[in-house]
Amino acid sequence: MVLSVTVEFLKFSLHAPLSFIIILIIYWKILCVFVEKDNKMWPEQKIQNQKEYFAAQRKRPTGNLTEYVVRTYYCIYKGCSIYKSDSCPAREVSNYKIKNIVYEGFYNNRPDHDYNSVINDCKNYLMNMGYIHLEQRDGDEFIFIDKPLDFLNPGEHETYLKKYNIQETFEAQNQFDVDIHPVHNENALSALLYHMADPEHFPDPYEEIQAPDTDSSSFLSCDICDGHYVIRHGKNGSFFGCSNYPRCKSTKTIADQTYSWFAQHGLNIYEVEVPCWKCGKSIQLRSYFPQIDLSKDQPELARKLDLSIIRLGTINTLDQYLSAKHKDIYMGYSKQFNGEYMANHCPHCQSLQGTNRAVESMYKLLIDALKGYALPACIAETLTVTETSLSKREWKDVITKVLKYQG
Ligand SMILES: [Zn+2]
Ligand SMILES: [Zn+2]
Repeated sequence: MVLSVTVEFLKFSLHAPLSFIIILIIYWKILCVFVEKDNKMWPEQKIQNQKEYFAAQRKRPTGNLTEYVVRTYYCIYKGCSIYKSDSCPAREVSNYKIKNIVYEGFYNNRPDHDYNSVINDCKNYLMNMGYIHLEQRDGDEFIFIDKPLDFLNPGEHETYLKKYNIQETFEAQNQFDVDIHPVHNENALSALLYHMADPEHFPDPYEEIQAPDTDSSSFLSCDICDGHYVIRHGKNGSFFGCSNYPRCKSTKTIADQTYSWFAQHGLNIYEVEVPCWKCGKSIQLRSYFPQIDLSKDQPELARKLDLSIIRLGTINTLDQYLSAKHKDIYMGYSKQFNGEYMANHCPHCQSLQGTNRAVESMYKLLIDALKGYALPACIAETLTVTETSLSKREWKDVITKVLKYQG
């Protein structure tokens, strides 16, 4: 329609060159208003609130959105640096072109079908908060970097420049000297970032490896001799056998031994905030992951005993417990899985957050949190394991299936 109007104007203007120019100017003004509207920023207070939210997320990540926003920004930043300018053609950083970078490490590195609206959201956040803007130039759309991301942890800017191999050669680079104001470490994750930014003054938190606590290591001590149990594979499957075999023939089943460990330590229910894969709104996902519990206290064992597929939808009694407690956890049907299972659902759009998507990303988030000592913040509660909350028989059935599945 716009085109036909323009053509009409052109025909008309052949007879009236002056009015053509005037109309062209008006047309341009209208276009400018639209462009301006596109780039309209939020009110100061809203920007401030969003910035604080992002800053908190950088320190204690509980979802992907903030990370997506940051990656989108650095993709644009890289695009500009290639053009040695503070801007680049918007098509150079189209959602399609940057999707693999934005989604790297999430959803098995495969951007979901909804990536377009997710990355659009990221660009809108950046625009509304004044970090980037769009402009029409010579009939092409350009995207501009306007200021540094001022909610990052110290050192993150440098980390991204390095990670994305960005050469800071453009003129605007002087504006991008991010001031580092050391504050008290909120947790080891930010401690690590301080360390990366300034290793001389900030110690590496990973060097402080905790001595294994005697209480939990005794759980693998042999009942009979001074040896300890190791995982062995026999013709009837895996089991715990004494390290002094064949001198000592003491054995334990994996089900019995792990059950007594959980009975002693409890079983964590984890909770993380992620964007819904469908509508993008922030939601809470909840699940148990015995593998994460074990990884935290028994990392050696966890490496050899893979219980990672035990999660929401696997242990009936725990599923019932969570479903009764949280209204967004209920039986859902998955086409991909072709069946029903207990799952988290989005309270906004009701879509199922299935095992192949959200819960897998939740598992990865928790593994990352574990590495950064941020795991305690993701523990919603610790269930006491008793015959009523989780019977030994049910646990044994699950473990038997898991071990069989692994061959
Ligand atoms: Zn022994
Ligand atoms: Zn949703």
